[in-house]
Amino acid sequence: MEEKDLELNNTQPIDEKFADIGESVQETESKVTWKDELVEQEEIEETVDQKIERRLEELERKRKEELEQNQKPKKRALWSNKKIKKFDKIRYREQKCKEWEVRIVQQNMRDDKLGLYIHIPFCDRKCDYCDFVSYSMGLDAQKEFKEALFKEIDMYRKQCAKMVFNSIYIGGGTPSVMYEGFIYELSRKIYSTFHFEGDIEFTIEVNPNSVTSSKLMEYLRAGVNRVSVGVQCIDSKILANVGRFQTIDNIDNTFNLLHKMGFINISADVMIGLPRQSLDAVRDTIEYLIERNVKHISVYTLQVEENTQLYKNIKMGIIKPLGDNACIKMYELVNKMLKQAGFVRYEVSNFAIPTYESRHNFKYWKDVDYLGLGVSAHSFLEGYRFNNTPRLDEYIEKINNNELPVIDKEFIRDSERRTEYIMLSLRLATGLNLKKFRKRFNEDLLKSRANQIQTLIKGGYVYIEDGFLKIAPQHFYVSNRIILELL
Ligand code: SF4
Repeated sequence: MEEKDLELNNTQPIDEKFADIGESVQETESKVTWKDELVEQEEIEETVDQKIERRLEELERKRKEELEQNQKPKKRALWSNKKIKKFDKIRYREQKCKEWEVRIVQQNMRDDKLGLYIHIPFCDRKCDYCDFVSYSMGLDAQKEFKEALFKEIDMYRKQCAKMVFNSIYIGGGTPSVMYEGFIYELSRKIYSTFHFEGDIEFTIEVNPNSVTSSKLMEYLRAGVNRVSVGVQCIDSKILANVGRFQTIDNIDNTFNLLHKMGFINISADVMIGLPRQSLDAVRDTIEYLIERNVKHISVYTLQVEENTQLYKNIKMGIIKPLGDNACIKMYELVNKMLKQAGFVRYEVSNFAIPTYESRHNFKYWKDVDYLGLGVSAHSFLEGYRFNNTPRLDEYIEKINNNELPVIDKEFIRDSERRTEYIMLSLRLATGLNLKKFRKRFNEDLLKSRANQIQTLIKGGYVYIEDGFLKIAPQHFYVSNRIILELL
């Protein structure tokens, strides 16, 4: 079965969509309700085992075909032309990278459909550095949350009736810690409430400790076609030092399962700047991910937030943080390694093999609406920015009282949009379109920020190319500081 078959065509009646997906993936264990349902629902000639086996063989064949196809254009179209001399080869490679960066950003900027984000507020345990909303709670809390989330989805049915979505992102927390069957139920709820068109990008975040073949089967059946794995670093001692416990065996097992199930669009999160992390440890992690055929890598520098255990540990002198210079070296190493492996840096923290960039994330970087549901989720809808309460009890209570769990809501004025436009577009590889900016905000940035821009150009931090103001690639890591000068 083709990967495309897993994507939903919204012109089909909803029952047919699920029948298509349901037929493709089934499980053997009898204790899980959705699997039982499926077996009962369908008249099948093959046994369930045979069907799964056949499905896995098809996925494996499809995956191999796609891998071969992916490798071919990389060699021909990107930069492995043997006739080009070594010096020219570097220039040629840089040129091709630039072309891809521009193409990726431009293509995604044209997409005007909405994105749907769902925040799952549960994790196995809290990592010492974590400032996200996540609780370590059991099945009862998960089920209570599910009831509230489904009611919240219903509350937006009317408002979103005429809106068209094309991406779903289930993040957290750790969505993969949710009980089996939840993601499938959630997908049915989403598809029957919101209107989707075209190919849907459906991403789920998973952590290596909570991935099982059974859950991955369920995700496939729900229509998930992109998986983001929280790898961070393959050295378990470095991770344990900041209160995150996962081993290379867990990570290996996750990638083995993902490949076996036929997932191709796989992303990984990597952290740099971890205490006791060396350049070699970063190199090992990136090498490992390239080897595991990951298509997208997001690289984040460890941030020490005040209300975390890590902050306390640093204050007490138990842990020593890395300095800025070490972090910059790590970021440069990652950038160099990924570029050599055919990745394109389309945003400061995001690298992708061309065509595997995250469509959903682009929605945050431009003037497109997105709806966030679940504890602490943020939304930008019809000119308003709003966010849900970060407290699970308050979230459930409000919804049970038929109230939206929103705690902050404000209309975004043009002055704020201007600030966001500068911040977000300068983080993208294409930079800020000066003409578009003038048209949109009635302001010539080259005049209104003439002194700042001249100083930054003199310092080599920014440059202007084809009407775009861009941050020089070697200063991408400190882009936030550069952007502040221009606001
Ligand atoms: S797994 Fe992620 S969300 Fe959960 S506690 Fe750790 S850092 Fe936070």
